[in-house]
Amino acid sequence: MTRRIVVVGGGIAGLAAAHRLIELNKEKSLDIEVVLLEASPRLGGAIATERVGDFLVEAGPDSFITEKPWALRLCERLGLTSRLVSTQAAYQKIYVVHDGRLEPLPEGFFLLAPTRFWPFVQTPIFSLTGKLRMAAEIFLPRGALNGDESLGAFVRRRFGAEALDRVAQPLLGGIYAADPDKLSLSATMPRFKEMERAHRSIVLSMVSEQRRRARNREAGSGARWSLFVTLAGGMQELVDRIVSRLPEGCVRSNTLIARLIRDTDKNLWKVTTGGNESLEVDGVVLATPSFQTAELLGDVASTAADDLKQISYASTATVSLAFRQKDFPRPLDSFGFVVPAIESRKIIACTFSSLKYPGRAPEGHVLLRAFVGGSLQPELFHDDDATMEKNVRDELASLLGVIAQPLFSRVWRHPNSMPQYHLGHQARIQRIEAQLAKFPGLALAGNAYHGVGIADCVRTGEEAAEKVINHVLGGC
Ligand SMILES: Cc1cc2nc3c(=O)[nH]c(=O)nc-3n(C[C@H](O)[C@H](O)[C@H](O)COP(=O)(O)OP(=O)(O)OC[C@H]3O[C@@H](n4cnc5c(N)ncnc54)[C@H](O)[C@@H]3O)c2cc1C
Repeated sequence: MTRRIVVVGGGIAGLAAAHRLIELNKEKSLDIEVVLLEASPRLGGAIATERVGDFLVEAGPDSFITEKPWALRLCERLGLTSRLVSTQAAYQKIYVVHDGRLEPLPEGFFLLAPTRFWPFVQTPIFSLTGKLRMAAEIFLPRGALNGDESLGAFVRRRFGAEALDRVAQPLLGGIYAADPDKLSLSATMPRFKEMERAHRSIVLSMVSEQRRRARNREAGSGARWSLFVTLAGGMQELVDRIVSRLPEGCVRSNTLIARLIRDTDKNLWKVTTGGNESLEVDGVVLATPSFQTAELLGDVASTAADDLKQISYASTATVSLAFRQKDFPRPLDSFGFVVPAIESRKIIACTFSSLKYPGRAPEGHVLLRAFVGGSLQPELFHDDDATMEKNVRDELASLLGVIAQPLFSRVWRHPNSMPQYHLGHQARIQRIEAQLAKFPGLALAGNAYHGVGIADCVRTGEEAAEKVINHVLGGC
């Protein structure tokens, strides 16, 4: 008998889930019909790439991390290995805005801790007092290791306020478009918590980690890929390749799901669209943002729905601008810069897209991408396109000296796109998962739960697919 599993949400998590279901269907010669339902006309969710002449413009994510293997492995299984592109090592530098000027992040500085002495001593980013406070980290005892601590409190405790305000906030907060004083350390950067537990000092732990990596490199077992990679045709290529592997009729776009009902007698789920069309299915993966998932689960698991509603989201916009190289008074030489909130500027960060990856701009041209909004400057997200672009251009004129009219610009908005892993996030997710454990044919996936990056979204999608298919088969 044919069993039917539905995936709701066609972002990368839902696509990874649908793809894994199809893979398992083939591998195990199963008889499962997979249906992917997406509210909007297009697939990919936050991922979208636009070609403008010879420029390649990313609307959302421009890369994924290779340290976490799930997106990389998916690309390999999709036959995309030859399309993967590492970052351009020659420009592997980033700047931090400091008193209105761009200063290079000292070599060996990793997110919140220095690992090399001289570059750290020489940087003007920190005052002498700030540097002494940061250096004292290597002598500090472990903190209380129980309980949830905010990322901001952790950095202040170990490295002092200057380290947080000048570097950690723009680098770490930037990943989540978030306020580090609200973010949970355990939910966002568990690695640092573990370093403190295992080695006491974060700096000493990172130095020994770097030595280990250097030894591996010397022994020839260095990584094949850079820390972040993209695809030659942009991140959309991943989406398009997954879609090409899904059977005909599997994807239904323009299909908003409004309700989910459990039919215990028939051991089925009823998925209802906004247009009141119903689909009876054996298993469901919900790969929608958590506030949408809460709506869908309202009738089925109201307590879990209440917890899902508590996960707040931030909105960000990306503003891409194309220039000629000669429009810049000094040649650009890095991946871009980040902007500490204390600098009170109207952008969070700017990526020099055509320096970070090859093939993003034609010869003699530069593609830049600025980030606007986030949880610390929510009001700027609501500016109209013209105002947003003007603000970005004013900032770039002041920081990079580029005053020329851009060849073209693109503003992309991502409303409520960045889930905020605030204090208590992990406990909340555990509660949600415990409440949903009584429905083994239902699984959640996406960026709201166990990591916001693409690699984690792929993992949650694939794990959700495996959980649901195992249940459906077990019930055969
Ligand atoms: C500007 C920006 C830059 C980023 N940069 C990076 C980066 O460089 N690297 C990285 O790893 N990550 C990055 N991220 C994070 C990453 O892109 C996202 O976390 C990830 O793409 C989210 O995937 P998802 O499938 O969970 O959700 P989404 O992409 O949000 O997809 C959810 C889908 O569900 C659909 N949907 C919602 N409700 C319904 C409904 N009721 N019925 C049917 N469909 C519904 C939506 O239309 C959407 O298509 C970035 C994010 C943003 C916004």
